[in-house]
Amino acid sequence: MAIATEELLHLLNRRRFLAGSTALAAVPLMSWKALAQSAAPFVFKQGDAEITVVSDGELALPLNVMAVDASPEQLAEIAKHMGWPADTAKPHANVPVIKIANDVIVVDNGSGNKFQPTAGKLAENLSAAGIDPASVTKVVFSHAHPDHIWGTSKVDGTLLFPNAAYYVGETEWNFWTDPGLLAKMPAEMGDFVKGAQRDLAAVKDKVTMVKGGQEVAPGLTVLDTPGHTPGHISLELAGGEGLIMPVDVMVNPIVSFEHPEWKFGFDADHDQAVKNRKALADRAAADKLKMLGFHWPYPGVGFAEKNGTAHRFVAAN
Ligand SMILES: [Zn+2]
Repeated sequence: MAIATEELLHLLNRRRFLAGSTALAAVPLMSWKALAQSAAPFVFKQGDAEITVVSDGELALPLNVMAVDASPEQLAEIAKHMGWPADTAKPHANVPVIKIANDVIVVDNGSGNKFQPTAGKLAENLSAAGIDPASVTKVVFSHAHPDHIWGTSKVDGTLLFPNAAYYVGETEWNFWTDPGLLAKMPAEMGDFVKGAQRDLAAVKDKVTMVKGGQEVAPGLTVLDTPGHTPGHISLELAGGEGLIMPVDVMVNPIVSFEHPEWKFGFDADHDQAVKNRKALADRAAADKLKMLGFHWPYPGVGFAEKNGTAHRFVAAN
């Protein structure tokens, strides 16, 4: 059963979706070992780097967006294992803050106060983690969707990370900043386009374009992983067993690992997304690399394990 992207986005229209969400009172079965970020966030060492996983909160999406190809029974099973209500996916938003040598590097800056009321908690959770936004030297944007870059500016219009240099995939930048994009995209994508253009414009004097294979800092390398968006990038960090941050190439620890061929409702190019999803999981499993998932249950750190023709996710916490 295929659902048109337009239909999904229409469902996601905040006004419509939140208006219908008052019935979502089901008590989640906490079968997934998710942690909430407490005052003391999850911190781990990776080689010479130290990584703090800072929560931006969570999103609320129609459940079938997570796996458009899944049957109702499969969706129900996924919701149960994730501890989600029966009709709503509640993916976390885990923002990695990476300290390498003299750099403090943030990967994506969350939703800000502009997307959904359960997200946009990055600033307060940075404060709880004792991280001063003014100390951040670099921000890497994986892609220009709302939950990844709408936190760029604060309510007063100034940048959340005022002293940072910004790194964006060249293809991603060129796609979203095309002045003719709004007219080319479905009307339902209007807010996404306007938001991306607003936030990319806000950092245009501080931006460095990157491509796969380039380093953002010593040992932190860009991976070209288009599909979810035309210029989506992932990151790989050297040191220890190695770490891959797939970001939205792998949005769920069940779906992305066990059913990598299933379409994610927000993937722009399904075939490309599947190819990159499989490739990242294959590599992570074969080389026993650690993984950090932006949308996996907090803190989203673990490993890919081969399981038949696909994989399973094994949380490290
Ligand atoms: Zn996302």
